[in-house]
Amino acid sequence: MLRFFDLERIDAKKRDVVVRNKDFDEIYEVFKVAKAGEQADRCIQCGDPYCHNGCPLHNLVPHWLKATASNDLEFAFDLSNETSPFPEVMGRICPHDRLCEGSCTLNDGHGAITIGSVETFISEEGFKKGLKPKFAEVKVGKKVAIVGAGPAGLSAATFLLREGVDVEIFDKQSRAGGLLTYGIPGFKLDKHVIARRVKLLKEAGAVFHQNVEIGKDKTFEELTENFDAVFIGVGAVKGRKSGLNDDDAPNAHLAMEFLVDIQKKIFDESRTENIEVKEKNVVVIGGGDTAMDCVRTSLREKAKSVKCLYRRDAHNMPGSRKEYINAKEEGVEFEFYVSPKSLVTNDKGKIIAVEMVKTKLGEADVSGRQKVEEIAGSNYNVDADVVIFALGFDTIEYPFFASNGIETDKWGGVLVDENYQTTKPGIYAGGDCHRGADLVVTAVRDGREAAKAMVKSFS
Ligand SMILES: Cc1cc2nc3c(=O)[nH]c(=O)nc-3n(C[C@H](O)[C@H](O)[C@H](O)COP(=O)(O)OP(=O)(O)OC[C@H]3O[C@@H](n4cnc5c(N)ncnc54)[C@H](O)[C@@H]3O)c2cc1C
Ligand code: SF4
Repeated sequence: MLRFFDLERIDAKKRDVVVRNKDFDEIYEVFKVAKAGEQADRCIQCGDPYCHNGCPLHNLVPHWLKATASNDLEFAFDLSNETSPFPEVMGRICPHDRLCEGSCTLNDGHGAITIGSVETFISEEGFKKGLKPKFAEVKVGKKVAIVGAGPAGLSAATFLLREGVDVEIFDKQSRAGGLLTYGIPGFKLDKHVIARRVKLLKEAGAVFHQNVEIGKDKTFEELTENFDAVFIGVGAVKGRKSGLNDDDAPNAHLAMEFLVDIQKKIFDESRTENIEVKEKNVVVIGGGDTAMDCVRTSLREKAKSVKCLYRRDAHNMPGSRKEYINAKEEGVEFEFYVSPKSLVTNDKGKIIAVEMVKTKLGEADVSGRQKVEEIAGSNYNVDADVVIFALGFDTIEYPFFASNGIETDKWGGVLVDENYQTTKPGIYAGGDCHRGADLVVTAVRDGREAAKAMVKSFS
């Protein structure tokens, strides 16, 4: 260990832009054995590891780094699976720079340990060598219904199965995974990664009911009557509308309509939107990770041009810096300090341009963030054949919440106590439907903690 003096931080290699722009395959390569060992060996094994605290799952990072550096793959695999339901997913898509790597002691000056890449390596290499996560062999005679097979629901299922609790998972989509499957594009997270975990859960006894919407195809009350507890992990994917004129035009789309539609095309599933961007000028409005996923998806769908318009600058973008850099490398044009004013339509009601106005940053508000101010008279038009709005998400308030005494906060988030129990005893919730649109790792933590609380309530 402690080899940070003679070994520099090296990130996982990216595929060449010209090649990667042609497909939806992951752009980062998984570390080879020697590279993972070397990068793990840079760790200084702090007594009070900040990376562990910076990780929402409190992963045993220094321990599995040490095991990797010592070439003890099996121990590293067991340790990394101990606190996490799918370390290879978070290793790929966590915003590491804001979490574990951002907290690493070496981040100031020497370059943080490449924690995410080593985490991915451990699982991938472990699976290659035939290692498997462990589940309970003895059942405790309790069963939980999980509504939503996204990260929160799959995490709850994993930690319940490990304690011998039976689970049945109900999801309205035809494949499990939530946004891991239908939102986050394959160039960030290959779809086989999540399908492999779903297979392991099925082998451990989980029963998946896909294409079943609770509240429509099955009532919520059927679950409360037939199960010992229920976990709700229904996410928060109601896209925010722009409020501009004509934003319901046929060539204006919300980010999730676009991303889900393209993913269904790739899966060869039936589509409802049929959005085509090939040879078209695509304009994406917004500056977060979802906007980056939309612009990079448009490039791979062979758009003529792809512009991302954002009202602040690159430094102030809410998403991951890494994804912005990847989008730039791949050929996305960025226009900063601009805000949409109106949509310009032709006589058939189709959008042909977006009227923009230039902006500047003004006084800071109470949160300390500078307010965006429009510059009068600076309006101009940007040609657009397709406009995609990536302006954030709200929760969906299902009628079965209120009818079952499940209370929500003023933003529609499901209220839970310190045990992730909702205002209705025996009903638990977590992930985006509770905290609002956030991260995979926080949804996963909610699922894990709710599972622990349910197990405790059964004993
Ligand atoms: C485009 C995009 C890119 C993102 N990129 C990243 C990233 O790079 N890194 C990161 O950490 N986070 C990212 N996120 C955020 C992350 O995906 C979410 O925070 C996370 O998926 C939330 O998990 P969840 O389980 O709460 O909800 P979801 O993933 O939304 O899953 C909810 C599930 O519930 C099902 N469901 C909903 N209602 C019902 C019902 N009534 N009956 C049955 N099933 C139902 C849905 O079909 C879905 O499968 C991204 C989000 C988006 C939109
Ligand atoms: S789960 Fe995310 S924050 Fe935690 S160690 Fe892994 S990559 Fe870092």
